[in-house]
Amino acid sequence: MSEPKKTVERRFHGVPVSPGIAMGTVWVHRHEDEAPPRYAVKESECDQEIARLEAALGRTREQIEELQQRIAGSIGSEDASIFDAHLLVVEDRTLIDEVVRTIKTERLNAESVFASVAGRYAKTLGEIDDPYLKERAVDIYDVSRRVVRNLTGCSGRELPVSGTPWILVAHNLAPSDTAQLDPATVLGFVTDTGSKTSHTAIMARSLNIPAVVAVHDVSQQVSSGDSVLLDGYSGWFIVNPSEATLSEYAKIQQQKGLVERELGSLRETECRTLDGKHMVLSANIEMPRDVSAVKQSGAEGVGLFRTEFLYLNSAKLPCEETQYEAYRSVVSQLAPDPVIIRTLDLGGDKIMSALNLPEELNPFLGWRAIRFCLERVDVFKTQIRAILRASAHGCVRMMYPMISGVEEVRRARVILDECREELRREGVAFDEAMEVGAMIEIPSAAVSADLIAREVDFLSIGTNDLIQYTIAVDRLNERIAHLYEPTHPAVLRLIRMVVEAGHANGIWVGVCGEMAGEVVLTPLLLGLGVDELSTGAALVPRVKGAVQRLSLADCEKLVEEIRGLDSAAAIHSVAEAFAARYYSDLL
Ligand code: PEP
Ligand code: MG
Repeated sequence: MSEPKKTVERRFHGVPVSPGIAMGTVWVHRHEDEAPPRYAVKESECDQEIARLEAALGRTREQIEELQQRIAGSIGSEDASIFDAHLLVVEDRTLIDEVVRTIKTERLNAESVFASVAGRYAKTLGEIDDPYLKERAVDIYDVSRRVVRNLTGCSGRELPVSGTPWILVAHNLAPSDTAQLDPATVLGFVTDTGSKTSHTAIMARSLNIPAVVAVHDVSQQVSSGDSVLLDGYSGWFIVNPSEATLSEYAKIQQQKGLVERELGSLRETECRTLDGKHMVLSANIEMPRDVSAVKQSGAEGVGLFRTEFLYLNSAKLPCEETQYEAYRSVVSQLAPDPVIIRTLDLGGDKIMSALNLPEELNPFLGWRAIRFCLERVDVFKTQIRAILRASAHGCVRMMYPMISGVEEVRRARVILDECREELRREGVAFDEAMEVGAMIEIPSAAVSADLIAREVDFLSIGTNDLIQYTIAVDRLNERIAHLYEPTHPAVLRLIRMVVEAGHANGIWVGVCGEMAGEVVLTPLLLGLGVDELSTGAALVPRVKGAVQRLSLADCEKLVEEIRGLDSAAAIHSVAEAFAARYYSDLL
């Protein structure tokens, strides 16, 4: 007789996006049902519905207070009033009295009445041309969803935050969900969809949580409580691992630990090639809490601070003081090493629900990043003032994301100059010589990099987006992930063009996309003349180990050799063979 299905080992394969091995019990996170159920209740049941409503309002109040404390803790410091408006909604007697009346007169269940009355209030406020009232509308929507979830008992998008550690399995995770994961509770995660350069994957690497994505319908194939093993190196997700599998993985973990320890010993050494070229090696961060990992990694500062993560899980736009505190804490802890703060890059897969921005057909090509900031000057100025103030506490550089041409750099400079002037008038200290750079992640910017280079102090190539826009391949779409090729000749030509344009104008050029952390590609980036690499802190020691075993002269020869090749696959295989000759143990 065959073994019962429950204890038979089952293997699923996906895309490994964050290294590490995790073993534990599954917690399956299911999507909430958007529309609340609507059903009639008897007259005698109305009081019970009203009692359910009051209990859900009480529970919602507790959750908002808990969230307020948690977000304040993770950002480092938070304006405590951010959630006060949400608390006011759960205490709004006009709204609650109308819901109670409607339950009694219409004899309907509490969740459907609450959703419809609150929805009407929010819609009316949202239509008034007043920014304050529009924000109140967003608060009402947000709180209403939470009250409905508490009434229906659906866990919605809330993720487990404490208790026994879990391996999370979900259909999909938004970057804002991932940012809230606590590595002490979530040992790893697996999703049905996803890609390597999504911000969910980037966040997993930054939190050091092993992760595998694009495992098709895995969330339907496992149940909460299943015992599993997750391999974030090779992409295996194994349910009910057998004794043989467990002992195989114990060996793998031992080997990986050995390599990591060897790389850890490079921490205090310089990132220099055998023939003396210093490659500046920096780390990317998403939150102030990532600073300790940066220090631990031996990086020479931060090459990309993705500041939008300060906004994503916030119920309101973070105020100048909150941002200043976050930036100041990072900058002062890392001084004198530089910290490159990127101005707000919302949009694409980074949606701030509290902003309630209109949905777009093509969000990656839409009203995002610098385009949003140049219109929402209030938002932009708040951030720039906070960055300038933080510049008084160490070495701050600032850069703009999603620049498509020189005009945007000039418009941003006018706003930056206004902020400088305001701070001077107010007698507030800042670094007058703060360097300002542009990210090159759109082909139009790469092709006109010579024009942009004249207006800035440095260029930083965002290869994640540059590849997506050059090859027209959505970086989130796993169906076409095979077309997302960093070694595409067009991508390498654009990188070369940007480096040459920067150098011809006497400025340095870095790479801060995920390519910077792929040691197979380190020889190509060195040979192309890139001056700085910035990658997730966990990958910094590996990249340093690779650079230290290479010679710039050989890398330049490699770049000449691949010039004659016409396909991404051919270039990748030559680069891989080259890298394997110098450091097969790191691949
Ligand atoms: C990039 O596009 O390469 C980049 C570094 O920015 P992000 O990944 O945040 O879009
Ligand atoms: Mg980008």
